[in-house]
Amino acid sequence: MADLVLFNTLGRKLTPFAPIEPGVAKMYTCGPTVYNDIHIGNLRTFAFEDLLRRTLRYLGYRVVQVMNVTDVDDKTIQGAHKAGVSLEEYTQPFIASFLRDLDTLRIERAEHFPRATHCIPDMVALIARLVERGYAYQSDGSVFFSIARDADYGRLSGFDLAQVRRGERVASDEYGKEDVRDFVLWKGVKPGEPAWESPWGPGRPGWHVECSAMSMKYLGESFDLHCGGVDNIFPHHENEIAQSEAATGHPFVRTWVHGEHLIVDGQKMAKSLGNQYTLKDLVDRGTTPRAIRYLLLSVHYRQKLNFTFESLDAAAGALRRVDEMRFRVAHAPEDATRTETEAGFAETLAKLPRDFAAAVADDLNVAAALAAVFVFVKEVNVAVEEGRLGPGDKDRIAAALADVDRVLGVLDPAAWPATATAAGDTEEEEIERLIQERKEARQRRDFAASDRIRDELAGRGIVLEDTPQGTRWKRR
Ligand code: AMP
Ligand code: ZN
Repeated sequence: MADLVLFNTLGRKLTPFAPIEPGVAKMYTCGPTVYNDIHIGNLRTFAFEDLLRRTLRYLGYRVVQVMNVTDVDDKTIQGAHKAGVSLEEYTQPFIASFLRDLDTLRIERAEHFPRATHCIPDMVALIARLVERGYAYQSDGSVFFSIARDADYGRLSGFDLAQVRRGERVASDEYGKEDVRDFVLWKGVKPGEPAWESPWGPGRPGWHVECSAMSMKYLGESFDLHCGGVDNIFPHHENEIAQSEAATGHPFVRTWVHGEHLIVDGQKMAKSLGNQYTLKDLVDRGTTPRAIRYLLLSVHYRQKLNFTFESLDAAAGALRRVDEMRFRVAHAPEDATRTETEAGFAETLAKLPRDFAAAVADDLNVAAALAAVFVFVKEVNVAVEEGRLGPGDKDRIAAALADVDRVLGVLDPAAWPATATAAGDTEEEEIERLIQERKEARQRRDFAASDRIRDELAGRGIVLEDTPQGTRWKRR
């Protein structure tokens, strides 16, 4: 199997992946803050992490993945307060919808989804270690990490500490800081806010310390991979490195992998900017989750993905090419006189897994991986047309696609909901919608499109009959 190479943000170069424990990849992925439904920008990051996870498994690693759920921070506290419910009651539906979105896009579930509020003792223990080792100090019931004690600070992001003036005071709730560059580990309680007991009085953890404590709890003090969107690099991941290494005295994470943003009209999609689409928004407009997954995966993780509806249509079109090939293969005759797979076609079958594995192992080069898939699609179509399929070849084609789909999770239409479409249509409603689309295609003389729709329906056992009164359909 191909050796995996990943772009490590720490050191900014392509590095061979070498896990601490041979054969096991331990991976931490920063999860959502659950004050709201997640948007497709968040899902782009989770889809890229899923691609990495599936690639690791494809290449033979056992994966242990942790994705945290940030269920206590300013926004969740404010939301719960406004709604007049407890933090737990407020965040529960958002946690449920987050998990549902992952399932809808066939993003594999992590092994652990710890919630911050369930791991407070681990965070308190980590902060206590930092205080004990002299890296943290107490002030007005809060605890801060002292950046001046950490000579290595800024290694991940290339952040130059000297540019930030010392002693300047910023946010009012962080008045106790000795140095503007310090960050909060424990926030002393404010009236009306939820709080937990600690050696420094009641309060709650800061965001950065949550991820350090939860990752080390499940993966150990040193582990292999830590991922997130590029906005996590600074200060979040920089602070995680600082506090984790200060507490344990050894390296925290070997490889940091960051995904670029999904953008709309040149701007990052963000809850705070109000330019977001949720998965449900897109599905309600008639887009299938399958096309959304394809779009999210089809741009390399280190490139920005500019979201447009045209690109969603293109994703659906690419998938249709694969489906049509499957349809042709299903209906193709086999040459029973052959005793073995024709030599040229045997090479087509051998090439796909080889080229695909080499592509994904090369820093998740998804463009090259998809190119290998579409070369395969084209060559299968030609083989069908030329009558070159022999006994057993149809199964070999299906197996070759299923093999690479362990990584892509998008090629097999049967794995996606067929009876109720994404938009919540019944099957009948969807058939009517496709018939309408076919009619429109014929009106604009796009016969390739109209044939495609007829074939797609035929593939599901639906036969169309054009009559002077319009198109009727029946099940075969
Ligand atoms: P948050 O809930 O904001 O902490 O985000 C959860 C994850 O989604 C983090 O890894 C972020 O980096 C990522 N994220 C947020 N916005 C975007 C975006 N527009 N594109 C890609 N990833 C994003
Ligand atoms: Zn995090």
